[in-house]
Amino acid sequence: MTHKIINAISSRNVPCWGNRKKYIAVHYLGVVGQAHDLASDGCGAHYYIYWDGTIYQRCSLDAVPWAVGTAGYYTQKHPEARNSNTISIEMCCKCDGNAASAEDKRWYFTKETQEACAWLVAKLRHDLGIPSANVLRHYDIVNKTCPAPYVHNNGYKTSWTWTTFKQRAEEYFNAGQKLELKAGMKVKLTQDIAIRDSISTKFQQAGYVKYTQLSASAKKKCRRLSGNKAKLKKGNVVKVKKATTAWNGSIWIQIKSGWLPVVVKGKQRVKAV
Ligand SMILES: [Zn+2]
Repeated sequence: MTHKIINAISSRNVPCWGNRKKYIAVHYLGVVGQAHDLASDGCGAHYYIYWDGTIYQRCSLDAVPWAVGTAGYYTQKHPEARNSNTISIEMCCKCDGNAASAEDKRWYFTKETQEACAWLVAKLRHDLGIPSANVLRHYDIVNKTCPAPYVHNNGYKTSWTWTTFKQRAEEYFNAGQKLELKAGMKVKLTQDIAIRDSISTKFQQAGYVKYTQLSASAKKKCRRLSGNKAKLKKGNVVKVKKATTAWNGSIWIQIKSGWLPVVVKGKQRVKAV
């Protein structure tokens, strides 16, 4: 399923800018409660996820909130991850024990919070090109017990283990490779694609259209977009009129000026915008 991100982006209290977006750090809020704001001293995260799975984005991705540093107190464990290159996600949590202590073994996350976080991690990995190995617990960066449920890793109540969380995020990541194309949506070409007048069939595989065979309006559009070639350039944005799967499993979309094969042999040639 797809989760919605509520835009709560503000530059207020953001202490620093220029995030290099190389790592993703997962946290727990550390108190029983729900909030999505940066503290006045700049401490906080880019995203906050509530108990019901609602995701708030509080900082733009260029922001560098104080999230994974040593604060002059913790010991750095990770060789490279720092506030300046890490996107942070705070998961709101609950505790059946002593909520004043991170060492209490009865901290837990709801299923909804974890599902939304795994989905968000996958989305950020897609958007920012971050490998799975760079998805870390705060605890992997400095020696802080954060997020407590994944440091104790005891699967208390509805909590997953860190391994389960990473697996779930991987599933979302792999599912996200499959582009859901719907009429009316816009997609951006990630490579040049020749325009065809129809979907290729088993009997007529080529499907390429000679420029001279295009309609006058298609010719005009092609000239405007890419010079005198019946080819749309990488970076062009087109509106999907219809999407359909061809005999060989390739996925085609109909656009104003013709048809484009957008997923061929499992390789995606467009992305949603
Ligand atoms: Zn943390």
